[in-house]
Amino acid sequence: MLSDSSIFAALPDGAPAHKPSLLMVDDQTVNIHVMYRAFAEDCQVFKATNGKTALQLCESKLPDLVLLDIEMPEMDGFEVCRRLKANETTRNIPVIFVTSHSDPEKETLGLELGAVDFISKPINPSVLRARVRTHLLLKYQSDALRSLAFRDGLTTLFNRRFFDHQLEMEWSRSVRQASSLAIILLDVDFFKRYNDHYGHQTGDDCLREIASTVKGSLRRKTDIAARYGGEEFICLLPETSQDNAMEIAEKISKRLQERALPHLYSDVSQYVTLSMGVASSIGGELEAEQLIALADQRLYNAKNSGRARVCGETPAVKN
Ligand SMILES: [Mg+2]
Repeated sequence: MLSDSSIFAALPDGAPAHKPSLLMVDDQTVNIHVMYRAFAEDCQVFKATNGKTALQLCESKLPDLVLLDIEMPEMDGFEVCRRLKANETTRNIPVIFVTSHSDPEKETLGLELGAVDFISKPINPSVLRARVRTHLLLKYQSDALRSLAFRDGLTTLFNRRFFDHQLEMEWSRSVRQASSLAIILLDVDFFKRYNDHYGHQTGDDCLREIASTVKGSLRRKTDIAARYGGEEFICLLPETSQDNAMEIAEKISKRLQERALPHLYSDVSQYVTLSMGVASSIGGELEAEQLIALADQRLYNAKNSGRARVCGETPAVKN
């Protein structure tokens, strides 16, 4: 039997490296304090005292689990849960209702809305911790299962299917929040020659090295790196400006230089290099497909202007 203090330290393989993050929602701050004390040490805690803030925090912070009060003025917990489950971005976040109701009908309604559990007030901290732990475990397991279907076998990055799904979701979010969504499209320079000369086995190793360089250059939980095609990779960067995306692209390039993977058959360097196209769109000014097309066009420009570079602009059309 695990001691209470080790409950969260003992989360298994597949759990993310960061501390579990919880969102606590209750219009009575005294209730939030009680819950906060139960988790402050081993979880990252976000707090909201109304439904509107709770929904915003769920979208922007993607907590691992939500502890949700039912009785709240303006928007009650049922409505918050309904909206979380209707939103593609937040639908997989488990919701536990924390409530003074012991009414089976309300409990049924909550479960039908997609909540995973009910905990009654007054809050007992050890019961609360135990239940939260159980649901975090289930959440991590289902995340892991979902991600298997969305991974590229060779590089373990996300695959194109997942990327397309995520792009659609993040594009909608950027429209709702009038935020900037950026894309980096990357292609390995002279990769056909690399494969021809070093063999496919070494070619695969090279792609894995590049994948880990790209992934290692992203910082935020919502940033995504995917394998887009044979030797093409793509990054999806929500809430990222064109300038910041350019910086990330340059960082990827610099880190790959530091790895110094030999490529004796490249015309532009003695090492493996990347050409990259960077594009961004604020609040859906471009459709998702147009955003990709723009990044692709800029990647093409990077290739045409000598490879081993990042291109974030479209040259003016000559008359
Ligand atoms: Mg309340």
